[in-house]
Amino acid sequence: MIEVRNLSYRYPDGKEALRDISFKVADGECIGLIGPNGAGKSTLLLHLNGILPERLASDPAVFVGGQPITEANLPEIRRQVGLLFQDADDQLFCPTVLEDVAFGPSQFGLDGDRARQALAAVGLAGFEERVTPHLSRGEKRRVCLAGVLACDPKVLVLDEPTTDLDPRGKRELKDLLKRIPATKIIASHDLELVVELCGRSILIDRGTVVADGETIELLNNELLMLEHGLERPHILMHQHPHRRVPFLA
Ligand code: ADP
Repeated sequence: MIEVRNLSYRYPDGKEALRDISFKVADGECIGLIGPNGAGKSTLLLHLNGILPERLASDPAVFVGGQPITEANLPEIRRQVGLLFQDADDQLFCPTVLEDVAFGPSQFGLDGDRARQALAAVGLAGFEERVTPHLSRGEKRRVCLAGVLACDPKVLVLDEPTTDLDPRGKRELKDLLKRIPATKIIASHDLELVVELCGRSILIDRGTVVADGETIELLNNELLMLEHGLERPHILMHQHPHRRVPFLA
């Protein structure tokens, strides 16, 4: 469904953010993208629906359903790959909630009811006429997710989806994502979410892939986690106790 082939990227100010990244994601897979702050996770996700680079290269590095992302197929790629931005304020731009969520479906010629259904799915039925800038950060986050879901994408690309959500909001989001059959790529510091949802994870640091494999195996590797600014999540301590580093008195 997604293939990234030797992707490197440098921001216009010269900062190298991605170096020779390659991986494939099969249809229906749910992948966790983990790594410390500044690793390149958001930059990588912005490449998956053609937001970066602004001018698409003649030598494409990202393929969706086997098709390279080009200027010509960008609308179709955006229809297939729904991206939840890290910052809700980068995503919301209409005065009211319903207008915002309905914008994507109207662009793609989808049924107008999809927006209301998506709002209900994220627990915001009744918020249709609310003024977007007046919402709490957690509510904004849900509106953004509704906007993405309303377009019924084949691939969901989510950048820190649980940020700003309270514990109940996180639980509801996980349950919702489990029910959605789309291919998913989820960048998150919420490693419990990654354990629960993603069978496979990709660990990146300093713009390169450090490890790619079974989530439980990666996250249970305490040395690997510590080396890259992460921690073994508590959920694994109970379910998958590891015996690799005995405590020496
Ligand atoms: P992560 O999402 O893993 O925290 P990012 O993809 O946001 O990492 O950032 C990767 C690197 O690129 C960081 O060093 C960051 O400072 C840099 N970076 C991000 N956005 C820009 C930008 N617009 N211009 C220059 N450098 C950037």
